[in-house]
Amino acid sequence: MSDTHQQSSHPPQGSPRRRVLIVGGVAGGASCATRLRRLDEAAEIVLFDRGPYVSFANCGLPYHVGNVIADEEKLLVASPETFRQRFNVGVHTESEVTVIDRATRLITVRDLRTGAERQEPYDVLVLAPGAAPIRPPLPGIELPGVFAVRSIPDTRRIRAWIETHQAKTAVVVGGGFIGLEMVENLVHRELSVTVVEKLPQLMPPLDPEMAVPVTEHLQARGVELRLGDGLARIEAAGGARLRVISESGTQSPADLVILAIGVRPETALAQNAGLQIGARGGIVVDEQMRTADPHIWAVGDAVEVRDVLTGQETMLPLAGPANRQGRIAAECIAGRPTRFRGVQATAVVGVLGMTIASTGASEKGLRRAGMTAFQKVYLHPGHHAGYYPGARPIHLKLLFSVPEGRILGAQGAGTEGVEKRIDVIATAIQFGGTVHDLAEAELCYAPQFGAAKDPVNLAGMIAQNALSGDMPLAEWEQLGRTDALLLDVREPDEFAAGHIPSAINLPLSQLRQRYTELPRQREIWISCGVGQRAYYATRFLAQHGYQPRNLSGGYTTYRALKLADLVP
Ligand SMILES: Cc1cc2nc3c(=O)[nH]c(=O)nc-3n(C[C@H](O)[C@H](O)[C@H](O)COP(=O)(O)OP(=O)(O)OC[C@H]3O[C@@H](n4cnc5c(N)ncnc54)[C@H](O)[C@@H]3O)c2cc1C
Repeated sequence: MSDTHQQSSHPPQGSPRRRVLIVGGVAGGASCATRLRRLDEAAEIVLFDRGPYVSFANCGLPYHVGNVIADEEKLLVASPETFRQRFNVGVHTESEVTVIDRATRLITVRDLRTGAERQEPYDVLVLAPGAAPIRPPLPGIELPGVFAVRSIPDTRRIRAWIETHQAKTAVVVGGGFIGLEMVENLVHRELSVTVVEKLPQLMPPLDPEMAVPVTEHLQARGVELRLGDGLARIEAAGGARLRVISESGTQSPADLVILAIGVRPETALAQNAGLQIGARGGIVVDEQMRTADPHIWAVGDAVEVRDVLTGQETMLPLAGPANRQGRIAAECIAGRPTRFRGVQATAVVGVLGMTIASTGASEKGLRRAGMTAFQKVYLHPGHHAGYYPGARPIHLKLLFSVPEGRILGAQGAGTEGVEKRIDVIATAIQFGGTVHDLAEAELCYAPQFGAAKDPVNLAGMIAQNALSGDMPLAEWEQLGRTDALLLDVREPDEFAAGHIPSAINLPLSQLRQRYTELPRQREIWISCGVGQRAYYATRFLAQHGYQPRNLSGGYTTYRALKLADLVP
């Protein structure tokens, strides 16, 4: 972000009322308009959107396709009439802003119904144009039956296509948030779904091993996955049918194709007006969401924001940041010096009963940012006390700085209670928390909701043990390169059902009697099912003069790392 501007766009007392024009009337734009009205009754506020609606729930669109939200009207959070009546905000739909003339402070607006153009003067301009789905220029991408999901007209077209052509099969291109939500909703409508994803994993923001549970979950529910295999082209296959061909040459028949391969910030308007576009492709703003032009603000998916963990500029097309930025821009326009703190990428997605959530940096994100002074722990606790029926595992990964223990990021996957834990950790990150804070966090507990040591506490305690040296960690990545003895302390039947290659088995239940069989001069890397028994063994051997290290998360983590191709 550039430096905060000192110049205020607040009009001097007694001047004519300010005209605030807002381009884009959904998450960021609508938040800005209504917050500004609550702070400034005098300003004239007008929203322009090129679509037929303002303030609609884009996040609800996939569920409308799936008939979970059957009534389209439910997606309309506020109508133009509500804006006028309740907030005295003018709304022009199907009105595209095509030019910004910064010298004269005029925008050109094209009425998409008539084609007529007019100019509108502004004192303050807010850009909230969002981001558009990426449509790569591949053969067949414009064929009928190939859709992206951004607007209500898009979902109307998809629903009509499914019904008219009695669609039975779909290909979703892209295995990120929107792609997975579309998978869930197409499966709800009883379509057979294939996902084509160029990366070798689903959910690209996650570290690969943390995406393994969702891969297995989808496969178990009959979703076909083509990972590590990008879209090459789409062909017409007779009637309304399509054929999707991936880079490997694999063909998937489809009655419809959903493109969900990411979004591109809508920056053309800003760029043509000479506003700065950053290296990540978004409009550059300061902490008050103002561009280098003191009369122009920008918010939402179209702007670059600072990642508070890596300190780098990033794009984060999510609704929470867009809404908060709209509110902050309004406050600053009203003369309050509020600042946007940056983002930490807290996100969640649900797919067919599985929840995947994350906050802060991923391991690959930290490495990309050149950060190396960190450690990670894995754990797989139940979402509530094991003795209460129905406990389900949560797969958690926690990243923290060394030696301070500052929390850098967390990822979780499971069927219950995942987002609650990630939200707690997200809040701790926001307050600059450490793993010690997580260990001590006082959280709700009764058997049906959690455990006396909640998964969040356990994550903190395991990290504390690693930092204090009570439980030195072995690096999973070194598994094929170490001459340490690999010791599995599970029971023989568990060991027989699958173990790390070249590991030997000495169950924890026999360790006190047989530990002298182990070498004292060699490091011993210990694993079990999820890490707990290995921790007990580590503490025992350390206190008997051995050199143990813990393979965090045990065989459960090993399996995920192996399936993600990260260990031999
Ligand atoms: C299918 C889907 C599901 C999503 N699910 C989630 C979720 O579960 N959680 C989450 O956090 N985020 C989700 N998002 C992302 C979230 O919706 C966006 O991050 C958020 O809406 C961005 O707000 P914005 O104001 O920047 O842009 P938008 O909400 O996209 O609004 C931009 C508006 O500006 C209009 N516009 C653009 N250019 C012009 C112009 N020149 N003139 C006039 N109007 C213009 C556009 O038509 C659009 O209506 C989802 C997005 C989609 C598409």
